[in-house]
Amino acid sequence: MPKAHETILEINLKALRHNFEYITSKINNSTKLMVVVKAFGYGSDACVVAKYLQDLDVDYFAVAYTSEGVVLRKARITKPILVLHPQPINFKSLIDNCLEPSLYSAKVLNEFVSIASEKNQKDYPIHIKFNTGLNRLGFGKNDVDYIVSKVNETNVIKVKSLFSHLAASEDLNETYFTLNQIESFKTITKAFEGKIGYKLILHICNTSGILNYPEAHLDMVRCGIGLYGFGNSSIENKNFRPIATLKSVISQIHLIEKDETVGYNRAYKSKSFQKTATIPIGHADGIVRQYGNGNGFVIINGKQAPIIGNVCMDMLMVNITNIDCNEGDEVIIFGEHTSAENFAAATKSISYEIITAISQRIKRLIIK
Ligand SMILES: *Cc1c(COP(=O)(O)O)cnc(C)c1O
Repeated sequence: MPKAHETILEINLKALRHNFEYITSKINNSTKLMVVVKAFGYGSDACVVAKYLQDLDVDYFAVAYTSEGVVLRKARITKPILVLHPQPINFKSLIDNCLEPSLYSAKVLNEFVSIASEKNQKDYPIHIKFNTGLNRLGFGKNDVDYIVSKVNETNVIKVKSLFSHLAASEDLNETYFTLNQIESFKTITKAFEGKIGYKLILHICNTSGILNYPEAHLDMVRCGIGLYGFGNSSIENKNFRPIATLKSVISQIHLIEKDETVGYNRAYKSKSFQKTATIPIGHADGIVRQYGNGNGFVIINGKQAPIIGNVCMDMLMVNITNIDCNEGDEVIIFGEHTSAENFAAATKSISYEIITAISQRIKRLIIK
């Protein structure tokens, strides 16, 4: 790995490959793999990740919003792309880019049919989402007749898959709830397939679903966080390699006398002689203020340096009193050996939040 000379997010494709192989070792050959690359590929680089995995022949991609799918199409991602939460205002662009909508209510289904017919579509692939307990998006179990009759009255759309989303697949205390979600999804999809008369792709598992509920892999699984290197448990985390390493450098070192203060609002007051380092990353980059005042730390020459005072917009200061280091030395915020999940724990946050929060201002460096 090259030494950082500025704040940089390294994306390691060997680690991505490792995670891909681990996930595929957990699923049958007959189960398709949908790779979730929403939110810039969980803060990495959606196009790089998608291209790399397209070449490894994954079956499907998923994004949250239409604009994210358009970016993938421009980067020559040709595999099918499911848009998990498309907004009707973007349905025209969605169709123009051959993206496939998740439709989750009568309102969005009707709006999609009307725009697809204006655009003279025939058998346009759509995906129907059912709510089985997350209570976020999805049709209810009693909507099956309505959806099937709506689909049958037009040849504009064709249902390609039915899916649902688990609320707590990583939490083994919620196994009973999760098994219930899986059961109700099976009941719904059986009724749906019976009424519509053709076979659909069924999918319900995210990463933790893949790991904890092999009996629920069905026809396809949707994997996000696992590919980026997190298994959502201390045991599973060992089987993954975080693909992103956030690095920076020491811009300046200060010697602070007793009773001096550091940073805005004079939030850190020195009780004795201290040495501090200023690092060029701040809350505008996703290192939110909650990491300040001793909550979070960075790694310098293998040692923990606590973040002191308030995190600034573009910088933060750390205590390096007991660390042998110089201006220009490398700083690790998180990476393969000091995990983002651990870093996030300082603010009661989770891997998903910290890795997707790293601002687009920070350059992504792809390590092949
Ligand atoms: C984000 C998302 C996923 C991926 O979940 P991971 O836990 O990251 O694997 C799967 N399905 C839906 C509907 C999602 O929104």
